[in-house]
Parts: sequence; C-alpha cells; structure tokens
Amino acid sequence: MTPLEHIIREKIARDGGMTVAEYMTLCLAHPEHGYYQRPRTLGAEGDFITAPEASQIFGELIGAWIAAGWQAAGRPDPFLLVEAGPGRGLLMQDLLRAAGHMPGFLDAVRIHLIETSAALKQEQKRRLEPLGLAIAWHERIDDVPEGPFFFVGNEFLDALPVHHFVKKDGRFVERLVSLDEGGNLCFRDAGAPLADDAVPAWAKDLPEGSIIELSPEREAFAAMVAERVAVHGGAALFIDYGHARPGAGETLQAVQRHRPVSVFHEPGRCDLTAHVDFSAVASAMAAQGADVYGPMEQGPFLRALGLELRLQALLKRADARRRMILKRGAKRIADNDQMGRLFKVLAAVPGGANPPAPFTRGQRWQHS
Ligand code: SAH
Repeated sequence: MTPLEHIIREKIARDGGMTVAEYMTLCLAHPEHGYYQRPRTLGAEGDFITAPEASQIFGELIGAWIAAGWQAAGRPDPFLLVEAGPGRGLLMQDLLRAAGHMPGFLDAVRIHLIETSAALKQEQKRRLEPLGLAIAWHERIDDVPEGPFFFVGNEFLDALPVHHFVKKDGRFVERLVSLDEGGNLCFRDAGAPLADDAVPAWAKDLPEGSIIELSPEREAFAAMVAERVAVHGGAALFIDYGHARPGAGETLQAVQRHRPVSVFHEPGRCDLTAHVDFSAVASAMAAQGADVYGPMEQGPFLRALGLELRLQALLKRADARRRMILKRGAKRIADNDQMGRLFKVLAAVPGGANPPAPFTRGQRWQHS
C-alpha cells in the first residue's frame, strides 16, 4: 500500500468518505506523496507524453502565436507571459526561442510560472534560468502581478479536480471515494446533493442513474485568466484533451508508465486526469467579458500556424535519426488518430479585439 493510500484510508475512516475532487487533489498534489512530487512523471521515461515532450514544433508555433498576439496588442512593454503547469519547462523553452525572433519581445517579457510541484519547479529552473530572463514562480494565479497578460496552459486544466454526481430519486448526489466490505477503495453515491441551480441546463432531464462530471475549480481558474485578459489586454490559450459539447458520463482516468490503470491503483503513483468540458470553460471565460474562440482541434490549429513549413525547415538540417524523431513528433501532435483531434485549443482575447489567427470571426464561441 502506498503511503498516500494510508492517509486516504484514515481520512475516509474518520469522515466516512471523500469527494472524487478531494481524492484527485490528494493523489496529484499532496505536498509529500502527491504524484507531481515524483521524479520522472512526464516524458518517454515517465508515465505520459505531452505535446511539448513529443515535438519542439508545438512550443515554437505557440511562441509564434503569442508573439503575433503581442504585436496585435500594440507591443506592450513590459508584459506578462504566464504559463500554468509548465511541466519540465519544454513548452516555455521552445516558445521563447521562437517568439524571441520578434524584435523587442525578450526585452519586454516578464515570465511568471504557476506551479505547485517543488520537483517540477526545480526542473523548470534548471532548464529556463540559463536563458537569463526575468522569471518568477507562483503557486496560485492570484499571486501573479497585474499587467498585459499573455497566457498558455497545456494539459493543465485536465489536472484540476472534477466532481462526480449521480442522479438518485430525481436529484444529483455527489459520488464519494469510500471503502467496501473488503476494505478496498470504491465509489459510493452517498455525498451531498447538488443544489438545483448548480445543475447545468443540459443535465436537467437526464434519466435516473446518470452520472455527470463537473469542475467548478477549472471554471474558476479559466475565469481568472479571462478576467486578466479582458481588463489588462493580452491573449490566452488553453490546450487540453476533452469534448466541445457537454454530456452525461465520467472520464476520470489513471495512467502509469504509458498504460491505463484503475483510478484506485497505487494512489499518488499514477497520473489522474479527466477530459475538459470546453463549453463549461468557454462560458466561464466569456462571462468575464473576454471574446472566446474555439474550441478548435489541435491538428488543424497547428497546421494553420505552419506546422508543415516548420517541419520541413528542421528536416533540412537534420541527420537521419533526427529526421525520424522530428517526423514522428509532428505526427504525434497533429494526426487525427493521435493528439490532433482529441486535443483542442481555446483562445481568449479582450472583448471587441480582432479574432486571433488562425481563429476567424465565425469561430467565436457563443453560449448555446
Ligand atoms: N504543460 C506541461 C505539463 C502538463 S502536466 C506539458 O504540457 O508538458 C500538469 C502540470 O500542471 C504539472 O506541471 C503539474 O505540476 C501542474 N499542476 C497540476 N495541478 C496544479 C495546480 N493546481 N496548480 C499549479 N500547477 C499544477
């Protein structure tokens, strides 16, 4: 049994159970035994591969997008470049290399990283401090100072906690993580009922037994990003796996060494995530006065930003082994059967600003 499972069981024995959101938070973010404190979580030798881990082109294209947004905003100086959940720091490194080609960008940029994991923060420091730019770390977005706000969060929202509710006797009650007769971790639909006004419109008429997955935590975070952009100017990108339209069902999943495992397997030693409900995130952002675009699938987004051109340029200077790695990485981040379709991109700019290319006016998110 992992040390964290002991802690979880004690808490369940004391309180009768914990919400799925509490369980997820403990598994990922416990200050000592949480998953993100572990060495080697991300990357080929870890448990899962993200887009920046698969291809340098991902961060480079996002760098070009941020640089274009900075230009469109009138090149504010200074401005904040904020990343939430920077992982091993690869996305930021690739982003800065690309955006740094725009004259003035690196002189004006003030980098702020939002990270809770001490282990990953050390890795980000090692990778990014040699660049000699101003970088500050924060545990919460509230601690980031005010100013023109350029933001990116890749596979960040999927790590924020979700709640599960099950319809019983006409009401949604919260699902708890509890212990069965045999003493094993299990789900029990025995938590507090969801207030009627918190039931989303699409879920109101679902049949008995239906399960829904909600994340006020994600919506609150996205709203804070959108508010900064709306008030101070800037542009924001959330990239994650998930669905454009909400629906019944739950998507909590655990991964260890690139393989799916039970969500109760070795708590604290597996990555736990859930699909992002982009419509919930988009409406939370639009409510702050930002213009929201997307969600657009990651493949078309990256191709529109010049994926193929960049790949060809890199291939020209690469040896045979490197060419294979570059091609495989580009397929990984953009092909439909890989990350290209499941992963989606949501953008926000201040209300009334021009659509941020490659988004067009028609892709503006409208509450349905
Ligand atoms: N963006 C990176 C890493 C994704 S993994 C990439 O694409 O490779 C998720 C990241 O979010 C990790 O850096 C993790 O430590 C961080 N994280 C998870 N929950 C967080 C929270 N509540 N606040 C801040 N950072 C968090």
